[in-house]
Amino acid sequence: MSKFVLIGSGLAGGLLAAYLGRRGYEVDLFERRADPREGNMVGGRSINLALSTRGIHALEQLSIADEVLRNAIPMRGRMIHDRSGELHFAPYDVDPNKHINSIGRAALNTTVIESAQRYPNVRVHFNHKCTDVDLDSATAQLLESGVEAAVSAANERVIHASGDAVLGVDGAFSAVRQSMQRKIDNFEYDESYLPHGYKELTIPPGPNASWQMEKNALHIWPRKSFMMIALPNPDGSFTCTLFWEFEGPRSFATTKTDDDVRRFFEEEFPDAVPLMPTLLEDFKTNPTGSLVTIRCAPWFYKDKVALVGDAAHAVVPFYGQGMNAAFEDCLVLDQCLAQFPQDRQRAFAEYFVRRKPNADALADLAIENFVEMRDKTASRTFRAKKKLDHFLEAALPGIYLPLYTMVTFSRIPYAEAARRARRQNKIVYGSLAVLAIILIITMATLLFR
Ligand SMILES: Cc1cc2nc3c(=O)[nH]c(=O)nc-3n(C[C@H](O)[C@H](O)[C@H](O)COP(=O)(O)OP(=O)(O)OC[C@H]3O[C@@H](n4cnc5c(N)ncnc54)[C@H](O)[C@@H]3O)c2cc1C
Repeated sequence: MSKFVLIGSGLAGGLLAAYLGRRGYEVDLFERRADPREGNMVGGRSINLALSTRGIHALEQLSIADEVLRNAIPMRGRMIHDRSGELHFAPYDVDPNKHINSIGRAALNTTVIESAQRYPNVRVHFNHKCTDVDLDSATAQLLESGVEAAVSAANERVIHASGDAVLGVDGAFSAVRQSMQRKIDNFEYDESYLPHGYKELTIPPGPNASWQMEKNALHIWPRKSFMMIALPNPDGSFTCTLFWEFEGPRSFATTKTDDDVRRFFEEEFPDAVPLMPTLLEDFKTNPTGSLVTIRCAPWFYKDKVALVGDAAHAVVPFYGQGMNAAFEDCLVLDQCLAQFPQDRQRAFAEYFVRRKPNADALADLAIENFVEMRDKTASRTFRAKKKLDHFLEAALPGIYLPLYTMVTFSRIPYAEAARRARRQNKIVYGSLAVLAIILIITMATLLFR
């Protein structure tokens, strides 16, 4: 049986190891960080995430969806917070049973790693940082570090891990991808950053671990060029994320003192401030993350190396799909390996052909959704459009599907969902325009008869 060396045991790495373990492959999974079960998830990534249909489906194939969803909090729609503190709830779908799920990153990471470790042919090695990959021999060079190694280079040891193939599941700043960039002629690579960064803040639980805002919603404070969102946690708290310009007259760069921070929050999010007792401390202490979109091609080298998840296609988080797409990658790669068991290069090529257009489409959708969330959700027109979407979905079942529904509550490939939404928009808004013209002509005829 072939042996795979996996680099990165984040969300997709653990899941992919479980898929490969189930097929009977030998798997060595190397992760630069310590075991997340030792409670040391390094900050800088979101504490909680929205899990939806695609991700759930991938978890179901390994029978771990129920375990993950047991600790999830359903979010049935967006709760929009105006500057005045007025609230508007917009359900995600016409069907009230359709919801997305707020889940903790650390717990999910632990579940996928443990599901991989159920297979005796899967071995997980923490504290191993990949520094290079020799593509032709499918060999990863790794720096093994002891607990104290972070402060002493003397505690590090270089080791080499070889397999039939190396799979880079090592996130947006993938070392495996960097090796491919260095060594593959004409490797296409593009990274683009939004002018916005993000910072996580907290709304703690209320009395008796109660939620201080509506629990079953994703809260949004849309403020045109920036926004704050909040997702509920099982302990009664909410994790808020402020997405804000790095630079500019009012931005992370210009908001330095406690007074600046307090003034900004009191002006923009007055209803949230009383619920955020640790606001100043959180704002000063928590890192400001950047928001990157990464596109590259190809995602594989011969039958030796392939990229999965953010390593292949990091997207900005505004559709809540990065992890869901990474999980879908694992499922598709598993299917391709099963389809071509004797020809791994063909399996990798098929996986790339099936996933690349969808990853590209998702990258565009995610950026478009930032504009929708931070600006359009605040408008009456947007709310009217959502109602029209839901009306058409109910009136034309199976024929009309809103884009959000296709992306979040179906497994229609992202590229197809985007194309179908464009077609639907043309028909619906074209028909509305024709109706409006007919109405105007009729009224004008009646008036001037
Ligand atoms: C603010 C924010 C909010 C988000 N919200 C959502 C959401 O609601 N829903 C959603 O679906 N997605 C969301 N995402 C996206 C999601 O976090 C990613 O798409 C997902 O984590 C990708 O999984 P991955 O396994 O590919 O990468 P990662 O989760 O980044 O895992 C990569 C792993 O590789 C390890 N690693 C890195 N380099 C090396 C190395 N050199 N050697 C060894 N190990 C290495 C890392 O330590 C890490 O454990 C969000 C992202 C952000 C930033």
